[in-house]
Amino acid sequence: MKLRKASAAAAAALVLALTATACGGGDKDSDSDTGSGSGSGGGDKIKIGIKYDQPGLGLKEPDGSFSGFDVDVATYVAKELGYDADQIEWVETKSADRENALARGDVKLIAATYSINDERKEKVDFAGPYLLAHQDLLVKSDSDITKATDLNGKKLCSVTGSTSAQNVKAEIAPKAQLREYGGYSECIAGLQSGAVDAVTTDDSILAGFAAQDKYKGQFKLAGLKLSNENYGIGIKKGDTATADKVNKALEKMVADKAWQKAVDDNFGPAEYKNEPAPQIGNIVK
Ligand code: GLU
Repeated sequence: MKLRKASAAAAAALVLALTATACGGGDKDSDSDTGSGSGSGGGDKIKIGIKYDQPGLGLKEPDGSFSGFDVDVATYVAKELGYDADQIEWVETKSADRENALARGDVKLIAATYSINDERKEKVDFAGPYLLAHQDLLVKSDSDITKATDLNGKKLCSVTGSTSAQNVKAEIAPKAQLREYGGYSECIAGLQSGAVDAVTTDDSILAGFAAQDKYKGQFKLAGLKLSNENYGIGIKKGDTATADKVNKALEKMVADKAWQKAVDDNFGPAEYKNEPAPQIGNIVK
């Protein structure tokens, strides 16, 4: 008797759960919906983390729109997952916030110049890579800094939570005076004002800043390949189903030339000479 009661209660709970699931699809305003729906229900949104201050990669424009290679890659991937562009909710994920944003479920995906590495793989999963960049230095046009050893004793800016800052401390220039800011735009402002002597991060990012009208002619890249930065799409740890779908989407993006178009559109203006499209799963150490 007791058992029957329990199974009846379980059945009732199951019906309730199924009803709740069936009704949940169209809840446009749900704050907790990070895009776990199929996207075909019509009302779902997908939250995607990007940078807001990196021209050519992830930039919030003055009119509130978003541009950049990461934005184009994420838009393509979202479409393959079943979400139109107007179903994407962009969320700013600064370098130091990315792992936590995924773990908390604030965003479903992160496409934010996010390098795949072993330390991060303990906390999040990655699809990709979808771009190979290299760490470099940006200095004033008249600077005599040309190589990493010239940085000893100099003020060098990078961003908290980035591989760039980590690499400086570990090997590139341990004797530089590292200033860690929250975002690269702050480092660039520091370079312009003379508060710092150099900025270090991925060449893709630095080229985007150097090409800005307001900085034209003021800065130069050193052209050093100080590291390999394999950009991946960050996904919550354990969500292998999404990782598989994103990998398929990235492969398709390269095959149908949309990847090359995104490269031309976003890196062309900065004259950034990118590496060819990486193979999915092939991390260049
Ligand atoms: N790609 C490097 C990283 O993931 C540097 C750029 C960034 O901070 O987003 O840390």
